[in-house]
Amino acid sequence: MSSLKENLAAAQGYLQRFVETTTGHCIGGEYRLSAEGATFDNLTPADNSSLGRIAAGSADDMASACEAADAAFEDWRRVSGSVRRALLHRLADAIEARAYEIALVESMDCGQPIRFMKQAAVRGASNFRFFADKAPEARNGLALHADAHTNYTLRTPIGPVGLITPWNTPFMLATWKIAPALAAGCTLVHKPAELSPLTAVILAEIAHEAGIPAGVWNLVQGVGEVAGKALTEHPAIRAVALVGESTTGSRVMHQGADTLKRIHLELGGKNPIIVFDDANFERALDAVVFMIYSLNGQRCTSASRLLIQKGIRDRFTAALQSRVKALRVGHPLDPASEIGPLISRDHLAKVSSYVEVARSESAEVVFGGTSLRGLESGNYIQPVLILQADNSMRVAREEVFGPLLTVIEFTDEDEALALANDTPYGLSGYIWTRDLGRAMRLASSVEAGMLWVNSENNRNLPSPFGGMKMSGIGRDGGDYSFDFYMETKNVCIAHDTHKVPVLGR
Ligand code: NAD
Repeated sequence: MSSLKENLAAAQGYLQRFVETTTGHCIGGEYRLSAEGATFDNLTPADNSSLGRIAAGSADDMASACEAADAAFEDWRRVSGSVRRALLHRLADAIEARAYEIALVESMDCGQPIRFMKQAAVRGASNFRFFADKAPEARNGLALHADAHTNYTLRTPIGPVGLITPWNTPFMLATWKIAPALAAGCTLVHKPAELSPLTAVILAEIAHEAGIPAGVWNLVQGVGEVAGKALTEHPAIRAVALVGESTTGSRVMHQGADTLKRIHLELGGKNPIIVFDDANFERALDAVVFMIYSLNGQRCTSASRLLIQKGIRDRFTAALQSRVKALRVGHPLDPASEIGPLISRDHLAKVSSYVEVARSESAEVVFGGTSLRGLESGNYIQPVLILQADNSMRVAREEVFGPLLTVIEFTDEDEALALANDTPYGLSGYIWTRDLGRAMRLASSVEAGMLWVNSENNRNLPSPFGGMKMSGIGRDGGDYSFDFYMETKNVCIAHDTHKVPVLGR
């Protein structure tokens, strides 16, 4: 992997164009600034210097994009699945060709360490390849036979869709939404997060160069309450997929209600990782550390609550402390960095405030929470480890979305289950035990959309991804994505053997 110096030099080259000119929208195949000329500053979490100005989309800009998506829909829906497959593979090739650029720009824009972001393009491309190969079969439904009729279902693209993404892993999450929408035959308007707007521009450029027709893929930059809101309210948009906070999800449901939008929500979590006395100690320790401190803890599936069984509590938390103290916090482009800067000053203040919250609730902050000498210009924080917590505390209930782990003790399986489910969220859960029966019992009883047994989070593209309770509505992945981006139509054909009811003869 390249050194920090090499990465910095290359990043500067790739970022130059964003710094020099205002970055705009892509509407109907044209790059343009906001009609009213409004812009906002885009700061890098590494040192809060400006990466350039970004056009702030207004409701009018958003309306133009929605109309462009609407106008392009009739032609795009008629493009055959095999042609869509070829186009999406071409798009994936182009993503891979710009992988280093995407990784560097993404790291500088959102602060995630390059060791993780170097996978962004690879994962983005594989999302496109997976759905490219599914495009030809997207219309296929079921054959449902009855005595005198044969029913079959087919699926048609729902129409233009709105895709709203967050700042934590912006490139990968955008591809996750865009790939199935295009494979299904939908046109789209993408509204990336205002805090990390850059790789969405690279992605739209790649789509254009790969031959996605004008108007099929529109990009509007801007703040959620203005551009995002206008997208969720526009009558041409048939469905909205949001990845973001639970409160935003609730707002989007309200905003989309008047136009009866289909809504897909991937929201926050306070996910438990349950480690029993009989777990494979070293593997569980690796997974616990990885699942909260990777990606700066700014990951929806972060395991931010460690539920640890009494018998191994002391040994496990001692080992955990040494690991947390040894985590390397540093510049996002340094290949050695395991934790980079948090997305913004505001977010740094929010995450840091939970250290005081924990102390005021009489939990024990054994490490972290302080700023780092020499790195004060960026949004860096020492990773935080909190012991002696109980599940009623705010640090056990609220999504912090940072490198902060809350540790809670339990005695037996019943208590572990009760603690795991005592949360408004239900996104993911992790179970570490060698007792297969116990793993099976918990897997069926923990209220979460995704459970991993003896594993960290690891993604299988055909499997459903999504949450229960306040963590969301709907599932991504495989055919589940097509259920959202397509309408299912039933066709019933008579065998001409049944009696048609007669009136007025
Ligand atoms: P956020 O809710 O603040 O913003 C997400 C997106 O919604 C942004 O593009 C924002 O501009 C837009 N938005 C904000 N208000 C809006 C409104 N009224 N109408 C329309 N759009 C609006 O979330 P964030 O801070 O960017 O991201 C962090 C959150 O995302 C965390 O809660 C995290 O758990 C969640 N997340 C969930 C998943 C998942 O798959 N479940 C994945 C990643 C992140």
